[in-house]
Amino acid sequence: MQKVYFDHNATTAIDRKVLDVMMPYLEMQQGNPTSQHSFGRHARTAIEEAREQVALAIHAHPTEVIFTSGGTEANNMIVHGAAIKKPQSTLVRSNIEHPCVARPMEALAQQGWHQDLIKVNHEGMISKDTYQVIQSNNIGLVSVMLANNETGAIQDMSLLHEFAKENETLSHTDAVQAFGKIEVRFDELHIDAMTLSSHKVYGPQGVGALVLNKRSDIEPLIYGGGQEKNLRSGTENIAAIVGFGKACELISESMKRTSDLTHQLQTKLEHHLKAMGAVIFSENVKRLSNTTFFAFKDIEGSTLITALDKKGFAIASGSACSSVNKEPSHVLLAMGVDEDLARGALRVSFGNQNTLDDVSSFIETLKKELQTLKQLTAIAA
Ligand code: PLP
Repeated sequence: MQKVYFDHNATTAIDRKVLDVMMPYLEMQQGNPTSQHSFGRHARTAIEEAREQVALAIHAHPTEVIFTSGGTEANNMIVHGAAIKKPQSTLVRSNIEHPCVARPMEALAQQGWHQDLIKVNHEGMISKDTYQVIQSNNIGLVSVMLANNETGAIQDMSLLHEFAKENETLSHTDAVQAFGKIEVRFDELHIDAMTLSSHKVYGPQGVGALVLNKRSDIEPLIYGGGQEKNLRSGTENIAAIVGFGKACELISESMKRTSDLTHQLQTKLEHHLKAMGAVIFSENVKRLSNTTFFAFKDIEGSTLITALDKKGFAIASGSACSSVNKEPSHVLLAMGVDEDLARGALRVSFGNQNTLDDVSSFIETLKKELQTLKQLTAIAA
């Protein structure tokens, strides 16, 4: 059976070129990057080269890149790190943030901090007016994601910058989904901190970065031997960091090609989905060209996912990290989508190996599965 992977917002396969540069660091005797001997110096050089590759891809300075174990850790690091510096301050975020921004803020709200939410409209976007609803004079951090992992909607970062400036607070964006799909320039966003993850851009899992400008002073999340400028202690995962660096280097070569391809796939898919009566969320706003989040009225999303999986198509029902959670997507509820419709939501996220033929066979299979489900529902009714 043909297998088609349409879940690239959850994770991507390691690029062969990335794996090739990682292998020597997995196969041979490595030095600890803090050791003074030649093995240690070799490992240190590899990490600093990767830091330069990451920095170059986002137009940041290498000293602004702090390697972490991934996007989740980087998001926790900025939330905790900023909060500890400003006890009892207000932590502000949008109401569609990934759980790894939302949960740490909720936990801190139980421990003396306050939390305030910026609300999105029915298309999943934040406007200038909704920023202005936030009225606190002691904000420790404001965090708004660049592109949403479920809808793909892209926020206007100039509004985040303006809000942070007016409120004299640290600003952060989770760019995990935007990076590699649209151009992300840290130097032009005027945001203090930004999160990246390697496994969304054809790099290995378990590595990412918090990009932090020099003006920002945060407390570490993990204390120890003082690695990563004292901000993230622990012996570095050299092979993963080297792989992440290579994946970043490849982005500049491949991004235009991949986004042209995913745009074609998305146009074709959405044309057919609409003809079949699907609702496409955030359809009319600036959106990632690889992401389509949709639902059919009266169709259970998880049942359809299982049926499609049996036919070889891997798609998601919203955030991969909460796929065990049967609750409707918090992003759709924040957009005011009806609970029943939200429960049926399905996400297709394309990547660089997908083809127009994959989309054609997906549509044919989807049509058949929908028909079967509708017949079963009619019998049960
Ligand atoms: N932020 C967003 C928007 C994500 O989509 C994800 C992963 O799905 C993360 C953060 C977490 O990144 P990681 O898997 O590297 O911990």
